[in-house]
Amino acid sequence: MKDLYDIIGVSKQASQDEIKKAYRKLALKYHPDKNPDDQEAEKKFKEAAEAYAVLSDEQKRSRYDQFGHAGVGMGDNPGQGGFSGGGIHMSMDDIFSQFGDIFGGSPFEGIFGGSSRSGRRKGRGSDIRIKLKISYEEIAKGIEKKIKIKRSVLAKGAELITCPTCHGQGQVTTVQNTILGQMRSASLCPHCEGSGKRVGNRPPGAGPDGMIKKEETIKIKVPAGVEEGNYMTLNGQGNEDVSGNPGDLLVMFEEEDHPYFVRDGEHVLLEVNISYPTAVLGGKVEIPTVGGKAGLKIPAGIQSGQVLRMRGKGFPRMRTKSNGDQLVKIQLDTPKKLSREAKKSIESLEKSLNPIQKPFTKIDI
Ligand SMILES: [Zn+2]
Repeated sequence: MKDLYDIIGVSKQASQDEIKKAYRKLALKYHPDKNPDDQEAEKKFKEAAEAYAVLSDEQKRSRYDQFGHAGVGMGDNPGQGGFSGGGIHMSMDDIFSQFGDIFGGSPFEGIFGGSSRSGRRKGRGSDIRIKLKISYEEIAKGIEKKIKIKRSVLAKGAELITCPTCHGQGQVTTVQNTILGQMRSASLCPHCEGSGKRVGNRPPGAGPDGMIKKEETIKIKVPAGVEEGNYMTLNGQGNEDVSGNPGDLLVMFEEEDHPYFVRDGEHVLLEVNISYPTAVLGGKVEIPTVGGKAGLKIPAGIQSGQVLRMRGKGFPRMRTKSNGDQLVKIQLDTPKKLSREAKKSIESLEKSLNPIQKPFTKIDI
């Protein structure tokens, strides 16, 4: 796999600012809107986004510096963690908000249209962005959630008239005199924001734009395996403009904190406390997983700190049918309070056990 710093074109010591600037340049250069049907450009665009997702996150960056691709879940599944089709974008919240002007535009407007900064574009309403919290258990199996959103729609009884500024064109042409002669440039009409229509009479309760907020319940199918920062685009579920053309609804996923599971990409990390007899004799214990309870065989003579792998008990991977693993760190539970009886048996145990074979070892740092 290519070095992520090489992909972005910065040194290992680059500051966040340098990384951001370099990535921005690449994203603009290889943006699909600018390179239609160019697979090489698309590949570079995705590659840069993946590299930026790691290097712009200090935690991920230091894991990458220490462990390479494997440290950021890129080792065994090249291409995982990239963008994908089908409405789910593996891009991160960061990229989305920092480069909204690159990613927010419609394919027709292109990245240099420059008017999509507020999510508004010609002939359609603005996008709605919401955050949706989901638990690890929900992520494990995927879930359908109902959420309430407030959308702007044209109030009943609002009267539409042709915009007098642009005469219904949605665009205004300005003429500037320069040393090179007259320069004509067309821009979005500031009074109707491109719709060509304005509101004449409006009913009470409606805003000056003739719109009201309408509460709606929307069903969202959260696919199994999503991660914090992934987002989903529901086309046409955003705010409407005066002509009734809707923007999109963008749902950003957020993970709920869990009392004992820690997520590491598709893997789940968990610490399990076992008793001394179980550690010595081995046994089967019931372990929670994100998909429900599962049995774990503890081998006889296990050491405290040893990690057991439960294959396939992690999160589903987004584009394959496989699952990650659950990694269980075994901890020996030393009781602090003992009954007199238990104390006696521990004391007799001490006598009957062999002496420790290697009392001193060098610490592994
Ligand atoms: Zn207008």
